[in-house]
Amino acid sequence: MSLITGDFRIFPNARNFSGRIGEGTAEDSTPIDSIARELRGLSPSGVEWCNYGISPYRGCYHNCIYCYAKLMNQRYGWVKSWSKPEPKEVRWQDLKKSVTRAEPGRIFFSPVCDAYQPLEKKLGLSRRILEEVLLPSQHQIYILTKSSLVGRDFDIVKGRENVRVGLTITTLDDKTAKSFEPNSSPPSERVKTLEEAHSLGIFTFVSIEPWILEITNPVEIMSKLHSTVDAWIIGTHNYSGAQKESYRPLVGPLFQYLSQSGVKYLLKDELLQAIKGEF
Ligand code: SF4
Repeated sequence: MSLITGDFRIFPNARNFSGRIGEGTAEDSTPIDSIARELRGLSPSGVEWCNYGISPYRGCYHNCIYCYAKLMNQRYGWVKSWSKPEPKEVRWQDLKKSVTRAEPGRIFFSPVCDAYQPLEKKLGLSRRILEEVLLPSQHQIYILTKSSLVGRDFDIVKGRENVRVGLTITTLDDKTAKSFEPNSSPPSERVKTLEEAHSLGIFTFVSIEPWILEITNPVEIMSKLHSTVDAWIIGTHNYSGAQKESYRPLVGPLFQYLSQSGVKYLLKDELLQAIKGEF
């Protein structure tokens, strides 16, 4: 894959695939087939930086207050309670076939739940999908989680060229994070997990999304974690009522940091749209 340092995109070819619908993460976009009871194959990723997605659970115990999938669940009732997740019934042969036949691309693991929420500790479903289906495949695997449980699987991830491990970080303050990401690992633990991954030679990335106005400080996060993070993805806070124009005065310091630090990064379309005409 191509990573362009100093450009505003680190995944320049992501749009060339037909598999994606919508944009955003579980926070702001939900590919409908990602919440089916059975897991038979790849779904559109729902994000601009990956082509396909696989979500092993329906619902998510992390129960973030900004979760768009949770809001959608209230409307459509996919699961009784979003914070009481159910494992999907995996059709292993179908899933393997789907992954094997798909044009090589980037798989988001996972767009509509956290693959490393607490139930995973008991069931090991995400680990099995990784080990048996994703890691041996021709695709690039992008794990993105808010849980330090992902560290359990570093034994099968390390040494693999086709996998990146990402943690979402919206604030570095554990107490603040608890108020809107109540059941995720505290940011301090996520940082330790990133450090461990980095020390094992695993490619790491951080998703700063949602960028919660008056709470999230991307430059502070990037400055503190720069030695353990290989690439960054930065978005906005969708469906929150936050005025997109509010980001305009905030991006000056961010752009300055990005241009001076030489880090690899992706600014999501929604952020670029919000600051359109500003630079
Ligand atoms: S971690 Fe779970 S609850 Fe939080 S935004 Fe992602 S899917 Fe929603």
